[in-house]
Amino acid sequence: MAHREKHRTASIGWLRAAVMGANDGIVSTASLVLGVAAAGADKSAILVAGVAGLVAGAMSMAAGEYVSVSSQSDTENADLERERRELATEPESELNELTAIWAKRGLDPALARQVALQLTAHDALGAHARDELGRSELLVARPVQAALASAATFAVGAGLPLAAAWLSPPQRLALVVSASSLVCLAALGGLAAYVGGAGAARGALRVTFWGALAMAATAGVGSLFGVVA
Ligand SMILES: [Zn+2]
Repeated sequence: MAHREKHRTASIGWLRAAVMGANDGIVSTASLVLGVAAAGADKSAILVAGVAGLVAGAMSMAAGEYVSVSSQSDTENADLERERRELATEPESELNELTAIWAKRGLDPALARQVALQLTAHDALGAHARDELGRSELLVARPVQAALASAATFAVGAGLPLAAAWLSPPQRLALVVSASSLVCLAALGGLAAYVGGAGAARGALRVTFWGALAMAATAGVGSLFGVVA
């Protein structure tokens, strides 16, 4: 009976990207809201600025992710093309290369040769992609998926301080937005650290510290504008 094994690798990548996206959304939108509030703007102006920040942030995250993952995908595909060419033009040296890879993994030379021969007969390009280039189906670059996931997690994160601003009475807005955002950041930071196998408290503290710093900085700048205006 095959036993079920839960490896973290598959989920860690996605979860870390999701948490980072949400953290960005919380920090940048909460800071924007607090900055505009500190400048003395009324609630509707604050909410408009917050929504604009959410949309702008989500779009820029998607664009950045799409561009960076696309260039990763381009590199991967170029490597695969070169491998395909080398397999067609120099099959013997490619076979030796695959044999050497398996020998280095601990197989004795005769067995390594046999494995290389069988893998080559079965799917030469697949074997080289996996064993030589380290390419795995799990980690293949998917630009559109990555862009959408990044925009969505940012938008969810940004929605938290925005909802807090919308729900809070004007005179309590800064307090409610900053407190609720810091609590969400601590929870996300702790979760990301815990899932990554690190200490949740340290992860929470790290994210909360930088979030508080960003919010304080923008509120400071906003209040300067409030004084000047
Ligand atoms: Zn090769």
